[in-house]
Amino acid sequence: MEKTLSLIKPDAVERNLIGKIITIFESNGLVINKMKKIHIDLKFAQKFYEMHSSRPFFNDLCNYISSGPLVAIVLEGDNAIQKNRDLMGATNPSEAKEGTIRKMFAISIDKNSVHGSDSSESAKREIELFFEQD
Ligand code: ATP
Ligand code: MG
Repeated sequence: MEKTLSLIKPDAVERNLIGKIITIFESNGLVINKMKKIHIDLKFAQKFYEMHSSRPFFNDLCNYISSGPLVAIVLEGDNAIQKNRDLMGATNPSEAKEGTIRKMFAISIDKNSVHGSDSSESAKREIELFFEQD
């Protein structure tokens, strides 16, 4: 069984979409292993997105993800990392396929409603970052 980190980002939490998004995971065979609502600070956001630190959108990205509560989830299942990425859809919702979470709920490339680990290395790092103290 593989594990991956999902985040329901502040734009989706603010619009009361937690249940709708979790239902999509569960309906597609992903199991919620751990879950918590948390408001991260800017320092944590910069650590989480450190691989993007040289990108022009880095400051906006970190300010946004720390702007309000998010829901961090450890999803478990066969091929969980790729399955979650497929359910999420493309980073830019205007390019996301019909039926994906970002197509249904995302507002923009910044407020794109969900995050999902993109490899087993990032899954391990991100799960530790959010849940190691629990
Ligand atoms: P995430 O890491 O949030 O799951 P992702 O893996 O689909 O999304 P990344 O390339 O890791 O996309 O980018 C991280 C986040 O940075 C994206 O979710 C998006 O909000 C923002 N981002 C990425 N590319 C751009 C861009 N060209 N302009 C503005 N924001 C961007
Ligand atoms: Mg990413």
